[in-house]
Amino acid sequence: MPAHQLLPPSIGMKGFTTKIVHNDRARTIEHGAVHKPVHTSVAFGYDKAEDLAQVFQGNQAGYTYGRQVNPTVDALEDKISQMESGLKTVCFGTGMAAIGTAIFALLRPGDHVVSSAFLFGNTNSLFNTFTTQGIEVTFVDATSVGAVEAALTEQTKLVFVETIANPRTQVTALTELGQLCEERGLIYVVDNTMTSPYLFQPTEVKASLVVNSLTKYIAGHGNALGGAITEMGHFDWSAFPYIYDTYKKGDPQSWGITQIRKKGLRDFGAALAPEAAHHIAVGAETLALRMERQCGNAQALAEYLDAHPQVSKVFYPGLPEHPQHDRARALFRHPGAIFSFELHEDVDLWGYLNRFKFIINSTNLGDNRTLAIPVAHTIYYEMGPERRASMGIDESLVRISVGIEDVDDLIEDFSQAFA
Ligand SMILES: *Cc1c(COP(=O)(O)O)cnc(C)c1O
Repeated sequence: MPAHQLLPPSIGMKGFTTKIVHNDRARTIEHGAVHKPVHTSVAFGYDKAEDLAQVFQGNQAGYTYGRQVNPTVDALEDKISQMESGLKTVCFGTGMAAIGTAIFALLRPGDHVVSSAFLFGNTNSLFNTFTTQGIEVTFVDATSVGAVEAALTEQTKLVFVETIANPRTQVTALTELGQLCEERGLIYVVDNTMTSPYLFQPTEVKASLVVNSLTKYIAGHGNALGGAITEMGHFDWSAFPYIYDTYKKGDPQSWGITQIRKKGLRDFGAALAPEAAHHIAVGAETLALRMERQCGNAQALAEYLDAHPQVSKVFYPGLPEHPQHDRARALFRHPGAIFSFELHEDVDLWGYLNRFKFIINSTNLGDNRTLAIPVAHTIYYEMGPERRASMGIDESLVRISVGIEDVDDLIEDFSQAFA
């Protein structure tokens, strides 16, 4: 199959792992290799210069230059499209590069974005930068469709949400927002990083574009950075005013993602390295297995801590008292592998964290190793106490990214740290 041809969307979760493990071989792989090899060549040569011109003009499949396309990255893009039941994917060097360049490639000064207020910290920071460049962003409580609807203006072009917010684990009104965006003709961007396409496919709620930080669950091992934007095929790009004429080729469903590849990836240049793409593709093969284990561990740990007298609150959508427990059960295969908790006021935060034996005090999430981080003092430090309070982030809040360790060992480590 030539590069960048649409893969048939495979709707539904049937055979998720089979698809990922065998997807590369849907195209012929060099020498019968079972993995797509790592291609490090930056440039690609053509015997006939006319072919080079045709590839440049988008009339013929092929590779031009490593900043825009690369065979190893291309294979990963197909894999992600399959995982998300999407049409086409563009990969970037990081999740932040994916979010920033994609939105910047689509919007213009004077436009307005409505975003969930419960956001990954750097996305929050990025959106504040957008406002200094003339793209207004209003942050609202996106667990309620009414709050988003009330914030819409004539200038609103795009709604941005995460599936499960970190660190407080709010679950967005994903279905209702999909309906609202469809009715109002808005680009609906869903950051699926916290759930991954194994727990949830945003195409089910009519997302226009899906964001994944590949760094997290999809790669899984904490050894590669990457990000992706996937086109779902639900948005009518022929009605969108800013698509450049040169990208209005072929099916209008692809116009947006083509502009993201050209104006975003090509011009900003935050390309995914082929070596990282290979790590991510190998990691992705075990996404389902890891997620099953991590979510099971998270449920057991959340229940353990919830019952502990030295813990005042636990935030995990798998607990019945979580405000969006029913929504999480209806939408997601499992309620995720991230939870957070507040220690009782008598417990010294630093002492508790320092007593962990193997749980690591570290940022990042989705690693195979269990990671703990005091949120207010680290990832949410820069935004200051006021914005933290508005996001419900207590000074004692600890976020846990649950790994694949044996659950008894995990409970033992959390337990001994109270001693
Ligand atoms: C980590 C993360 C990102 C950014 O991804 P990087 O690969 O670290 O740039 C974006 N969104 C969410 C929800 C994340 O957890």
